[in-house]
Amino acid sequence: MSEFDLIRRYFTRPAPNSLLGVGDDAALVQTSPGNVLAVSSDMLVCGTHFLANTDAFSLGHKTLAVNLSDMAAMGATPRWATLAIALPEADEAWLAQFSAGFFALAERHGTELIGGDTTKGPLNLCVTIFGEVPAHLALRRSGAKMGDEIWVSGCLGDAALALAHLQGRIVLAEAALAATLPALHQPQPRVELGLALRGIASSAIDISDGLLGDLGHILEASNVAAQLDFAALPISVTLRGFLSNPSAARYILCGGDDYELCFTAPVAMHGQILSIAARLALPLTSIGKITAGSGCVVQDAFANPLTMESSGYDHFR
Ligand code: ADP
Ligand code: MG
Repeated sequence: MSEFDLIRRYFTRPAPNSLLGVGDDAALVQTSPGNVLAVSSDMLVCGTHFLANTDAFSLGHKTLAVNLSDMAAMGATPRWATLAIALPEADEAWLAQFSAGFFALAERHGTELIGGDTTKGPLNLCVTIFGEVPAHLALRRSGAKMGDEIWVSGCLGDAALALAHLQGRIVLAEAALAATLPALHQPQPRVELGLALRGIASSAIDISDGLLGDLGHILEASNVAAQLDFAALPISVTLRGFLSNPSAARYILCGGDDYELCFTAPVAMHGQILSIAARLALPLTSIGKITAGSGCVVQDAFANPLTMESSGYDHFR
């Protein structure tokens, strides 16, 4: 199969919301009036971001999901994406599964694949995503204010728990693995939440490298500190059953790959945020507050500070 057959068969779909999609030297798109482009890239590298034996459908899903998650964190509507892909070989069964996973999620979020690049090489998947948002409504990291509540969507730590099992660091029972694997392999980007938080959240970020590390980015950009209540952190029934494990707090606070949103909002928005949670059928939990100073203190159930060599995942440390 030639490179061009491969692109035509697996990566070319109708793109009715673009002036020109896959097949020319560049795609042509137009933003809707009153909006600016929100642009972000995320690359998944075999061995660093996923294990070599990860199934192709899940990989297709996750390659796009991590990018949609950035749009969610920005309060942007995802519209278009490009896919740069290095493949060790043209394995048609793999490509069929990968593109099925990718397009299933793309269709769910009305996102069109409008271009990319295909080369031979060690498996590497890079999406650039283009969204739209009215400039003044974009959810930046820099808007958190003293006294704001800190919120998180969904629950934390399941992906890290599943990964620890796959890497042989812990052993999960079959049911526990089945309950946590979807968080690792098929994270659900919180796009609708990001849109609902326009004009309500004062800052937002998606949790890709662990709550403490990613909240840390908000604190730094906003020049504020945070106090978190460990007992308030939302966790699954599965992880609750694991709380006595010495690593549990680390999965919850520093485990990567959650792809939930962490955001701040004035206390006056509390009720509206709970209404959004009900409307989206997505748990939103208040986990602490923004304070003056710098850094983040996590308090245990007795209001004592929990000590952790915190921070998120850093590729170069
Ligand atoms: P060029 O040589 O001009 O860069 P390519 O041969 O790389 O063009 O690509 C041909 C067309 O296919 C372009 O429109 C490009 O955007 C698209 N394309 C290439 N690879 C992919 C891919 N993996 N997914 C989607 N579109 C792709
Ligand atoms: Mg090219």
